[in-house]
Amino acid sequence: MLSDIFVIAIFLTFLKHTKLFNPTYMKEKISTQHPKPLLSFLTFCFVLFVSVSFGQSSESLPAPVSQLTVNSNGDIYCEIHANDAASTLHHSMGKAKSGLMVNGSQKSASNSKKTATGATIFVDYYNADPNLPDEDFIIAATAFQSAVDTWASLLSSDVPIYVAAVFQPLVEGVLGSAGPTSIFANAPGLERNTWYGDALADKLTGEDLSPTTYDIVANFSTVFPNWYYGTDGNTPTGMYDFKSVVLHELGHGLGFFASLFVDNETGVGDYGFGIPNPVFPAIYDKLAYSSDGKSILKDNKYGNFTTELGDVLLSGPLTAKGPSTKSATQGKGAQVFTILDSNIFGEIPGLTDIWLPGSSYSHLDYVTYAGGPDGLMVPFLSTGVAFDTPGAIVLSIFDDMGWNGKVNREIQENPNDTTDDGDDPLAAAENVVALYPNPFTSSVNVTLLEGRSIKKAALTDASGYKYYIPKKSIDGKELAVLDLSGFSGKSGLYFLQITYNDGSSEVVKVYKQ
Ligand SMILES: [Zn+2]
Repeated sequence: MLSDIFVIAIFLTFLKHTKLFNPTYMKEKISTQHPKPLLSFLTFCFVLFVSVSFGQSSESLPAPVSQLTVNSNGDIYCEIHANDAASTLHHSMGKAKSGLMVNGSQKSASNSKKTATGATIFVDYYNADPNLPDEDFIIAATAFQSAVDTWASLLSSDVPIYVAAVFQPLVEGVLGSAGPTSIFANAPGLERNTWYGDALADKLTGEDLSPTTYDIVANFSTVFPNWYYGTDGNTPTGMYDFKSVVLHELGHGLGFFASLFVDNETGVGDYGFGIPNPVFPAIYDKLAYSSDGKSILKDNKYGNFTTELGDVLLSGPLTAKGPSTKSATQGKGAQVFTILDSNIFGEIPGLTDIWLPGSSYSHLDYVTYAGGPDGLMVPFLSTGVAFDTPGAIVLSIFDDMGWNGKVNREIQENPNDTTDDGDDPLAAAENVVALYPNPFTSSVNVTLLEGRSIKKAALTDASGYKYYIPKKSIDGKELAVLDLSGFSGKSGLYFLQITYNDGSSEVVKVYKQ
């Protein structure tokens, strides 16, 4: 336990002093509220990359990347963030899906065989270390392939998944990194206004949304001396089980990552990777339940960027719940890692009881699961520990994100609550592509289908109170801004009734912060 803390401390210190990013500069440059490297990076990419396609119904941007570090006396520590060198490589790779196959033959979609169940995962293996002999490269690639085969047998997709596995001499202290290449929202088949990683988005839409790029890129260090490349699970003490680490990293690449975040200085919590707009949760976030058994994003209706959301994210223990997760846990839900509790670890300033960006919520709880069959996705891996499978609880989370069946819908906790038609505020809307921020404060942006424009709009609450939005407060057509600064209704749920230029109308749910 102590060595775990030591590793984290080392790593946080590294983050604090790293010059790879200059968050202050980013903050000024793009006016994001996040002084966090990952979020600044994503937001920056968003500005560069996504704004040009704004207005289209489907959106994508570079995805978060998980990175592994270790201390020679400690455990591997996994944190999702963006590192300059790693992310540059991640997001520059994949223009051509070709490379070495470990068995010597090059595979492509044309020679893939679709089986009734399972997924087809193609891996291109790159030896990017001139000092790595071919025979050692093949040993490492074989262990990597063993983890790939495990996931391929456990997930189901009609769309082949393309992975780049790059072996190279990473900087000292960094063992590897991995993640989806892009995240997608609002493609057909996805829950509306929700971010998905490449591979899961492809599975749910039934087509390769990024046909020229890899779905997952994984980098592993060739200069780290303590990998155990055997796949028999007999990992010696002092060695780290490479197959287990690849299983873990592919888990992140396949969708096991959150967009939730708490600023430890202000206590403000948010979801959406810090992207100013559109503000969407990740599909993984939608499984998040607070300790009182309520869905964080649905039932509690915390405003984004509020201390209320921050408080609940730090309150712990949080759970991930969906139909399969509940079934796998006797209804309790999967325990999700949030903070290192000082009641267990002792008080360590700057470490316990605070949000650990990229680690908190993107992993299963260390105290609950480490050392057991469901311990693959905890944030630390000790030497001598091996996993042959992700375990039932991790797999149930993949089920509930949509990997093996229908897309997750939040469980309706109260069957008598007939007012609840699901967690999607736009469920009933055909013409509204996006609506944000939601909850709103003083204005709402509404993105409509091509050719649509708003003739009039009104807000109604459950008691029948109605506020007609003045015509002068409705600006724009397919990208309309509703100025609600004159609306004095209290916080809570409203129905936004929109009447279009052709006289038709529809209703979407909005929340006032
Ligand atoms: Zn991880």
